[in-house]
Amino acid sequence: MVFFFKKTEQIKYKKSKYMYYNDDSVLFFDGEYVKAKDAKTDLYGQSLHYGYAVFEGIKSYKTANGTKIFKAKEHYDRLRKSAEAMLMPFDYATEAMVEATYRLLEMNNLSNAYIRPIVNCSPNMALSKGQKSYLVIEAWNWDNGYLADKMRVMTSSFQRPNPKAFKVEAKVSGHYVNSILACQEAKDKGFDEALVLDENGNVAESSGANIFYEKDGILFTPAKGSILPGITRATVLQLCGELGIPTVEQFFKPEEMQGADAGFFCGTAAEIVALDSLDEVPFKLNWEESLSAKIQTAYRHLVLEEDYLYLKSSLQYV
Ligand code: PMP
Repeated sequence: MVFFFKKTEQIKYKKSKYMYYNDDSVLFFDGEYVKAKDAKTDLYGQSLHYGYAVFEGIKSYKTANGTKIFKAKEHYDRLRKSAEAMLMPFDYATEAMVEATYRLLEMNNLSNAYIRPIVNCSPNMALSKGQKSYLVIEAWNWDNGYLADKMRVMTSSFQRPNPKAFKVEAKVSGHYVNSILACQEAKDKGFDEALVLDENGNVAESSGANIFYEKDGILFTPAKGSILPGITRATVLQLCGELGIPTVEQFFKPEEMQGADAGFFCGTAAEIVALDSLDEVPFKLNWEESLSAKIQTAYRHLVLEEDYLYLKSSLQYV
């Protein structure tokens, strides 16, 4: 393939490529393990041209019990559901994909990793459902653990994709053009992330994570409808249940969370990230004093297969 790049751009390209793979990296390509540098995809498909592909973002951790893929079944079940929602023929069983991923991690000597399965469709430029699909699984090192910095967030001028225009509960490549626009707008304006609203002006999520805010000892999160209902969001709700923290899933406007006690984004990649402020209005509590911080700690223990129920006793004093 010929790249029409200037020299400086070529260097940038190489830099970013090697963040993800090197000459020895192996990926899973439709049933086979091949060198990432040799893998090829076609240029005449709906996935490239129309964003008609479904994918997942998964993480594995080095735990005391060995390398463990967190919520592997949930992620691969969602991948299957996303393919089904997009009418793509896709017949991999969840268990087979989990097994293939463990093998891939081993072949690449990875423990703390980010795993990216993607289902592409074979050559077809028509605006009709995919005729044939193939699964690719990539994995690369992700060692930075906690992304502990507190985020300055702005309300985006972009809305989430309208659920009457897209199947928003599916993780579809094309939806992420919206995420890129929202995230870049926030960065260009000097913020860390975007808070994206739905078509009714209710809080939905960030460009790539779900959101919670904390007020008077209760954690609030947007109800399903215009969000990708994240596996981390479900895990947070589960942890809150176990730790006795009340939660409410409901639609709300950004003004209701502005200036609340605390807030966080949650997603597989980000894990649980504290929010500093929304549209420059800071959250009230010191993060360390919030219930949200306890959830952050509990989540970290959970992914590492460590005990977190001990946190329950300290919660009575919050
Ligand atoms: N919303 C969006 C738009 C996302 O891209 C993600 C990341 N997959 C999430 C929420 C969080 O989902 P999960 O917790 O399953 O990673």
